[in-house]
Amino acid sequence: NMRLEGKTVVMTAAGAGIGRASALAMAREGATVYAADIDAGALDSLAAEHAGIRPVTLDVTDAAAIGAFAAETPTPDVLFNCAGWVHDGTLLEATDADWDRSFAVNIRGMARMTEAFLPGMIGAGGGSIINMASVVSSITGAASRCAYGATKGAVMGLTKSIATDYIRDRIRCNAICPGTVLTPSLQDRMAARGDYDAAYQAMLDRQPLREMTHPEDIAPMVVYLASDESRVTTGQFFVVDGGWTI
Ligand code: NAD
Repeated sequence: NMRLEGKTVVMTAAGAGIGRASALAMAREGATVYAADIDAGALDSLAAEHAGIRPVTLDVTDAAAIGAFAAETPTPDVLFNCAGWVHDGTLLEATDADWDRSFAVNIRGMARMTEAFLPGMIGAGGGSIINMASVVSSITGAASRCAYGATKGAVMGLTKSIATDYIRDRIRCNAICPGTVLTPSLQDRMAARGDYDAAYQAMLDRQPLREMTHPEDIAPMVVYLASDESRVTTGQFFVVDGGWTI
């Protein structure tokens, strides 16, 4: 038996990294996955990998587009808010524009997606909301992650709030807190530092396991929280970090 047989999933940031691996993992477990991303090309190649993927081009900072997405999409059993943006900088380096973009993508987009799909999920008798946080939040600090960590801490507050307010509607809401995951955007950030190999080694040295975490290491947690196996779990933070925050 497939673990997500008959379930409908709506998710963001499905084109690459953790989102892409999770979209495929959920589709392989039998879900129909409405896979949203700003990158239409990435979605085309994702959809070609599994018949259960329904690609949707969407920018999570576009409120009108989110409304249209919800209006034309069946009510999901699972909402996975995965989209996030990393600002690389300290407090004294972050500009107003950096703060605005961090909040717009990482928090406002997540809250808007949830506002748009939650009424239908409540009407359908419940569902699971999965929010992408990070260990860089209220759990730990990381160098040059000021606006990022502040917004990921806010994701955890948002998660607690939704879990509290809608538990009687059988809406569950949990957050996943990865450590360092080797994704295309992380590889771009490492390359941007000039010496990719040195950046890779520094990253590896920070992992107590001395092994990189990959998107496929996070996807099983998404599948678990999407499935009925986690039906009595809500308002919690699931750390998957290769031992970074032991
Ligand atoms: P990523 O940053 O490479 O991006 C994944 C996808 O998001 C891309 O396909 C991109 O096109 C899409 N995207 C970007 N902006 C968007 C927008 N405004 N609207 C819709 N889609 C948009 O992938 P990732 O590194 O796997 O990150 C996914 C999530 O996981 C983010 O929320 C990130 O903060 C979080 N996270 C990542 C790591 C890590 O080390 N990679 C660690 C902890 C948490």
